[in-house]
Amino acid sequence: MRGRLVAGNWKCNGNLGANQALLAALRDGLAQLRGVECSVCVPYPYLTQAQQALTGSTTVWGGQDLSQFGAGAYTGAVSADMLVEFGCRHAVVGHSERRSIFGESDAVVAAKFEVALKAGLTPILCVGETLQERESNVTEAVVGRQLAAVIDKSGVAALGKAVVAYEPVWAIGTGKTATPQQAQAVHAFIRGSVAAQDRALADGLRILYGGSVKASNAAELFTMNDIDGGLIGGASLVAEEFLAICRAAERR
Ligand code: PEP
Repeated sequence: MRGRLVAGNWKCNGNLGANQALLAALRDGLAQLRGVECSVCVPYPYLTQAQQALTGSTTVWGGQDLSQFGAGAYTGAVSADMLVEFGCRHAVVGHSERRSIFGESDAVVAAKFEVALKAGLTPILCVGETLQERESNVTEAVVGRQLAAVIDKSGVAALGKAVVAYEPVWAIGTGKTATPQQAQAVHAFIRGSVAAQDRALADGLRILYGGSVKASNAAELFTMNDIDGGLIGGASLVAEEFLAICRAAERR
């Protein structure tokens, strides 16, 4: 049976005081959970704080992005090795906000995926369609293309050390969640695409759903066969909400 993962994506939110309270609540509240790994992906300046608060706990942490380059003359960039130095387990790669606001192409996302993996991080590869793409019935083409960019560069076996997050762009931060059936259909498509190249790998691949997941809708989403957890934005900033979502993903 696949393990589950619930990862929080704080985006550009937080301050030292609020983070301290949130991290302490997660450290205590997530200690007893079974069958679900919980992670918080925090802004770079707060990695030390996350590391100090969560070291020795069951909760892991990560970055929300990373540079496709290593050390060198890349002003403003943060390398994979730096994330590793701060104890990160995960690096989110290809979040739709990175793709649309910061102009990251499939090729850049694939390069970031590869450097994360080489550094020993577990990339959380985000894929998903816009509303216009869904309404034009090209969801599978878009998600398939985003996935193929990574497989073409790193090989399908690389997905064995990664997590995929299906995040329909129209559901991120909008309060509009995909129905469990809509999400399941795309998750099954993702797993099927990988299975066409490596069935065993596809069976073990964790595919998260992200897009306005809340305590009130998490349990229903997590009943679907191919949904192995969630990538949680807004609700990961509220301890009780995030804890409840993680509890809904438990497998005892
Ligand atoms: C996200 O940031 O990846 C996300 C899914 O956000 P939200 O849960 O707020 O929709």
